[in-house]
Order: sequence, then C-alpha cells, then structure tokens
Amino acid sequence: MSREQQAVARARKAFETGRSKPLEYRIHQLQNLQRLFSERQKEISDAINKDLKRSEVGMQMFETLGLEGEIALTIKKLKEWAAPRPVEKNLMTLSDTVYVWPEPLGVVLIIGAWNYPWAVTVQPLIGAIAAGNAAVVKPSEVCVHTAKVMEELLPVYIDKELYPVVCGGVPETQELLRQRFDHIFYTGNSTVGKLIMEAAAKHLTPVTLELGGKSPCYIDKNCDLSIACRRVAWGKFTNCGQTCIAPDYVLCEPSIQDRVIEEVKKSIKDFYTDNPKTCPDYGRIINQRHFKRIMGLLEDSAVTVGGENDESNCYIAPTVLRDVKPEAKVMQEEIFGPLLPIVPISGLDEAIKFINKGEKPLALYVFSSDDKVINRLRDQTSSGGFLANDCLVHFSVSSLPFGGVGNSGMGCYHGRFSFDQLSHLRGCLIKQLKMEGVNKMRYPPHTPKKLGW
Ligand code: NAD
Repeated sequence: MSREQQAVARARKAFETGRSKPLEYRIHQLQNLQRLFSERQKEISDAINKDLKRSEVGMQMFETLGLEGEIALTIKKLKEWAAPRPVEKNLMTLSDTVYVWPEPLGVVLIIGAWNYPWAVTVQPLIGAIAAGNAAVVKPSEVCVHTAKVMEELLPVYIDKELYPVVCGGVPETQELLRQRFDHIFYTGNSTVGKLIMEAAAKHLTPVTLELGGKSPCYIDKNCDLSIACRRVAWGKFTNCGQTCIAPDYVLCEPSIQDRVIEEVKKSIKDFYTDNPKTCPDYGRIINQRHFKRIMGLLEDSAVTVGGENDESNCYIAPTVLRDVKPEAKVMQEEIFGPLLPIVPISGLDEAIKFINKGEKPLALYVFSSDDKVINRLRDQTSSGGFLANDCLVHFSVSSLPFGGVGNSGMGCYHGRFSFDQLSHLRGCLIKQLKMEGVNKMRYPPHTPKKLGW
C-alpha cells in the first residue's frame, strides 16, 4: 500500500469508529486547532516568511486571524448548525415530523494552494471537522516550508488518524485522487480543477472547486478616486498580487486614466516607500517559474509605474500598465502577480460587455458613488462574489458564501456554508403507524368509487 493509500485507509477506519460524530468531540478538535494558532505563531510565521517573504503582521492579517475567527464562530454556532432543521409540511404530512438532518459525508480530501497556504487549507478543514467528517489534508508543495510545518504541527494538536496530513506534489496528489473519497475540496487553478473533477467522477465523488480567473474592477468617474485607488492598490499589491480575488485589471474611462495612475502610484509609495524592494511589507513572487511567467506578460504592454525586477530573488515592483489593449498578453490569463493593467473603455455599457465576454470571475469590483451604477453592474453580470467600493474584504465576512461560479469554481464555504457544504443534508420524514385511513386513496385498486368519481 502506498503512503497515500495508508493515510486514506486510516482516516476511513477512524471515521468508521464514529468518534468524529459527537459534537463535543468536534468542538474539542476545533479548540485544539485554536490552541495551535495561539501557541505556534512563530513557527507558522517563520515558514511563511521563508516561502513568501511575508511579514509577521501580514501573516496574521491574511492567515491566522481569519482562521481563529472562523474557529471561534464555528464553536459558538455548531450546536445550532448541526441541529435538525424542521421544515414546512404539506397536507399529507401534517401530523408527521419532517426535518433536515445534517450528517457527515465521510472522508474528505482537502487539496490546498500555496498563495495563502494556511487560510485555504485549514479553513475547509474547520468545516470538515465541524460537519463530523474525517479529512485528508494535502498542503501545496509549492510552499515548501509551510507544508512541512503543517505536517509537523497538525498531528500534534488534532486527531492524527482522523485528519492526516499528506505532503507531496503532483504524483502524490494523483495517487490520492485514485482513492475513493466522499468529497473533494480543491483550491487552485482552473486547469487542475478540471483534472480533479475528472478523477472525482470515477467514484461519483462530489467536489468543491475554489478556482481563480481574472477579477475585473470598474472605476466610475463619479467617485473619490483617491480613496478608490488606494483600496485597489491594496487589493492588488497585497501578497504581491498573488491573491485569488485580487482585482486583476481596471476598466475606466480614458478621461480618468491619468488620475487613476497618479493615485495608484501615490498609494504604492505610501504603502511600500520609494523602494518596495527593501520594504518588509512587500513580498516576493513564489518562485522563478511564476516570476518568468509574470514578466512574460509585460511583453506587449506599456509600463507606466514600476516594472523594476530582480530574478535572483523573485522581486517584481508594484507595476501599472496604461492603455492596455484587450488583446494584450496580460489580458489573456489570470495575472496572479503585481501588475495592474488599465484598460480604457467608453463607459459602463462597454465595461459590462467587456466583463460578460470573459469567463465568470471569482470577484467583481466596482467603485462608484452612484448606487445605480453599482446595481447595474451587479444585475447585468455574474461572478462568485461582488464588492462595491473596496477589495478583498468580503473574504473575511463569514456570513457570506465564498466561492466561484462557472470557470471560477463551484460550491462555496466559510461559516455555516462550510458546514453545509461538507454535510449531507438528509431529508427525514418520521410517521407513526397510525391513521391508516388517510392512506386509503393512494393504495390500488384506484376504482372510480374509491376516488369518488
Ligand atoms: P498550486 O500549484 O499550489 O496547486 C494547487 C494544488 O493542486 C496543490 O496542492 C498541488 O499539489 C495540486 N496540483 C497541482 N497540479 C496538479 C495535478 N496535475 N494533478 C493533481 N494535483 C495537482 O496552486 P496554483 O494552482 O498555482 O494556485 C493558484 C490558483 O489558485 C490561482 O488561479 C488562484 O486564483 C487560485 N486560488 C483560488 C482560491 C479560491 O479560494 N478560490 C484561493 C487561492 C488560490
């Protein structure tokens, strides 16, 4: 048996003991996970710094604080979420008990991505534990140091049979995918997302796919450009643009392009000084492969801010591109790096057409002081999430479903949505063996006399 097969078999055996089901056990595991974050901040932070050059504040802000909040919420609400949910009855079931009973699915496979390695791997794990499942956790191999820390720490704090960590790259993940799971929760790019779905189909395993894509940002001329551009710059250049919901590109009228560039430039300087390379709050591209890919996207566009780079330490300065054509290389794929193309369009109508020509994005951003503009953009487009006058922060609202639509993914999570996503919502109808007279009509023979015709 391969290491992967063994981990899955152990998780299934542990699940079959039934110990993951009692709410007290689930809560206890979540409390242990919480303890991990309060006791091991330093190891977590050091590893993330080695992988992504992210500062400790950045690590807390974008990884552990959110997870700790999610765990606290889940512990507080679990009893309510897991309780039977009474539903409306019809005439035939008026005297019966009818309810939805959330039950665990079984063994869940969680495959994480590298860009926010704790957030995107442990957040689904919180849902899996809360819903009473076993879960095999496969962190991204791209974040070498973080994957190692996760492999070391998780088994120290939570049930290592129920929630094993399996490290490895493509061959190991493929070996995992050959096993039978009851749900696969994948975060990463859309190309691999299709492979995951194909593998899952062999066992008819349901999937949640948290994918990416090009998230557009429309800046209306009717708004405070200084505030709008500061928020866009923050959303774009945080984690060096390696954020699934980063605003990928800006659409705006040509008349405000210069102001947008000036304001973004000013924000870059305010956030990261004149020399972002030496600023502890500015990160690095994850590896040379991605560095080369991102630099390649610059080929046919005009750099107006930034552009400095250093391959030896995967540094690309916060960069703004002006007058970008829809056919430019940078507009053909998700950038996932610190390049902000500005695509001039004639106005809202053209922006809507432009957005609808592409795949449905993970996030859609609009900056405007006019509710009509905001509402039109929401009503006439589709995206995983929609945010007006800010970037990224919808990710932190646990009461909102987080997920994609179409090419940006399927299924959603966070808060109660994670619990429901990783539960089977079992429809239950409990009758008494009484009142048989009511059923007379449904039993054959269906003679006209019996039916009263
Ligand atoms: P990645 O390279 O870490 O891959 C993700 C996971 O897929 C890893 O665990 C990896 O081992 C596995 N994998 C890679 N190739 C595989 C293959 N051929 N077969 C089986 N498994 C394979 O991460 P990535 O894909 O570079 O991540 C970036 C993408 O993820 C971007 O598109 C981004 O938008 C998206 N993303 C989405 C979310 C979200 O919540 N929707 C969050 C983070 C990242």
